[in-house]
Amino acid sequence: MGAEGPVSVELLGKSWEELRAYCKGLGEPAYRGDQVYHWLYREREFVIERMSNLPAGLREKLQREATIHLPAVRQRYVSADGSVRYLLGLGTEERVNAEGHPSQTSLRASRYAEDTETKTARKPAAVEAVFMPGEGRQTICISTQAGCAVDCQFCLTAQLGLIRNLTAGEIVAQVLLPLKEMEKQEPAGGMPPERAGQAGPPQSSSEAEQGAEEKSGAGLAARTNVVLMGQGEPLLNFEPVMAALRILLDAEGVGLSPKHVTLSTSGIVPGIEKLGKEEVRPKLAISLNASCDEQRDVLMPINKKYPLKVLMEACRNYPLRNWEHLTFEYVMLGGVNDTAADARRVVRLLAPLKSVKVNLIPWNPGELPYEESSAEAIEEFRRILTEKGVPAFVRYSRGRDVMAACGQLALKEVKESPLRVVG
Ligand code: SF4
Repeated sequence: MGAEGPVSVELLGKSWEELRAYCKGLGEPAYRGDQVYHWLYREREFVIERMSNLPAGLREKLQREATIHLPAVRQRYVSADGSVRYLLGLGTEERVNAEGHPSQTSLRASRYAEDTETKTARKPAAVEAVFMPGEGRQTICISTQAGCAVDCQFCLTAQLGLIRNLTAGEIVAQVLLPLKEMEKQEPAGGMPPERAGQAGPPQSSSEAEQGAEEKSGAGLAARTNVVLMGQGEPLLNFEPVMAALRILLDAEGVGLSPKHVTLSTSGIVPGIEKLGKEEVRPKLAISLNASCDEQRDVLMPINKKYPLKVLMEACRNYPLRNWEHLTFEYVMLGGVNDTAADARRVVRLLAPLKSVKVNLIPWNPGELPYEESSAEAIEEFRRILTEKGVPAFVRYSRGRDVMAACGQLALKEVKESPLRVVG
């Protein structure tokens, strides 16, 4: 972590260009920014002192003027199926002075880098990230907002309302934290051979040692899926989410593949259109959950703003890459949206789309007044879709025994105690 001080510049979440500009602003060569970028995202090193190829003078300067602020792990729930659910505390940062103005330090920083976040005090919040181990690959589910304003009726996060948007750094940190924990368990030389040699150029005399760690780190990222399906509607926090994704998907950054990162939206049509124009973007999933407007208006009131006709038109126009398909998520709610007639309507809705698949998600009973669909209803639904040429898969949510629905942990904390700032 950086030094304790009244105000400092947050490094986590900064892009390669921003870090170069920041280092130049400190009177250092721009390539020092590349090195900081590499340490943060590829090496997952968050202690400035340990960034061994930076000159001692720069390390001292960074310790005085910058910080690397990781979310505080308030709780870590381990499920019987091996999933780990993190409740992360995101604290306020003293980024404004007593009068509410940016301090000298943040003014100095903002001359060199676009850094609006250093000028704004942030509300404390708690979000969840879930780490799900699998055969050869692991999946990390992350949040993009604390709470959510979208108000889906089957979602506990909706009950929190929108607390605030997360910054790019807070989003990236949710991937870095579990990877850092995994890294400790990774056997030496864990990188698959096809990734060998893809890491950055040697930058210090201790490169051999660094290289070994880096190989392990790069291998882990290559075997990791990330889904933006935790708290929040990613497309309503567009710029920070994209800034985070550019770091996550950069081969010199965290190094995830766009094929292994999925952004799930409730159907924010302008956001879908904007995402389609991005040069670097993940796969897209639409949280559908209903077979007609009447049903969706109730389950997902956002449908009144972007009804199915408009949403499907945006899906039709979405520029899929040749390896890509659109995923539709469909939570199966017993007696609500799970009949054979629903399945046939879903087939008709998706018929005009080129390349789709549907994930059927059996309802995870909890505090909300919905029931599970029967196994027969789920199978019948899947069969109808598949027979009509719509690939459909049943996906059980992981970590049921540690409260798997997004928002459950944060809501529990809100109900039991007021949010407090940790870390
Ligand atoms: Fe928000 Fe997603 Fe919950 Fe809907 S399902 S309220 S978009 S967090």
